[in-house]
Amino acid sequence: MILSLKNQVALITGASSGIGYGCAEALAAAGASVVINYRSQPEPAEKLASSIREKGGQAITVQGDVSKEEDVENLFAKTLEAFGALDILVANSGLQRDAMIADMSLAEWQQVLDVNLTGQFLCARAAVRQFRQQDRASVSRAKGKIIHMSSVHQLIPWAGHANYAASKGGLDLLMRSLAQELGEEKIRINAVAPGAIATAINKEATQGEAAEKLLELIPYGRIGVTEDIANAVVWLASDLADYVHGTTLFVDGGMSLYPEFRGNG
Ligand code: NAD
Repeated sequence: MILSLKNQVALITGASSGIGYGCAEALAAAGASVVINYRSQPEPAEKLASSIREKGGQAITVQGDVSKEEDVENLFAKTLEAFGALDILVANSGLQRDAMIADMSLAEWQQVLDVNLTGQFLCARAAVRQFRQQDRASVSRAKGKIIHMSSVHQLIPWAGHANYAASKGGLDLLMRSLAQELGEEKIRINAVAPGAIATAINKEATQGEAAEKLLELIPYGRIGVTEDIANAVVWLASDLADYVHGTTLFVDGGMSLYPEFRGNG
């Protein structure tokens, strides 16, 4: 079977930068029409949409905050207006508001949970409602596919980032519960857990001396790039992964392998 997303429609949240941007680019290259959601940066989103269109693909941009119910409803309405269906949701938006627990404000806790967990719920719910109304048997074996962008920190505790780790740990059980609930409807749900990928979210940790320290945590010996995640997302979204359901694919160069134990004979 050849990997193709031709005639499929993909919505990617938080796609004006980093991993989301890379996913939108790769999904379009695989043949999907893409909806590029951004919260506050229209320029890179528009630039990406134009470059996809120049290559013969189809793309639109839609502003929206995934933690707001009305914005999510609008995002899905605009998707349908433009392309008439939705096959793939990549719920990618996420942020960090780091603080040690005694110094963490309720606002920092709440914002991370609102975007990283409630935003994932709102987008998944809207996608499921849409999937149920459509027959896409001619373009995909699944009725619809959801890919949640998680993190190695759904597994690895992270001091100083309790809000972020809690949001991603919660996302794991959200994803698996939805997969259990919706599998018999042929709605296929998975997550991708990136390790350390060089993007805006972790600029300080992936450059200079900090990067050297970070490499000690990555058995495969390099910091990831957005294409590493985008390639996994494209595969997971395709019929080649049709029997992959309710799983988190760790794309982390081995970061989740307890690398501190190397050489501790
Ligand atoms: P990034 O900061 O470049 O991307 C995050 C995107 O989410 C941005 O485009 C931002 O505008 C968007 N966003 C934030 N709040 C939003 C909101 N309320 N509504 C809509 N969009 C919103 O960083 P990234 O590394 O590309 O992160 C993408 C995803 O990958 C996040 O969920 C992050 O937790 C996850 N992740 C990243 C890494 C990494 O090493 N870069 C590792 C593990 C997981």
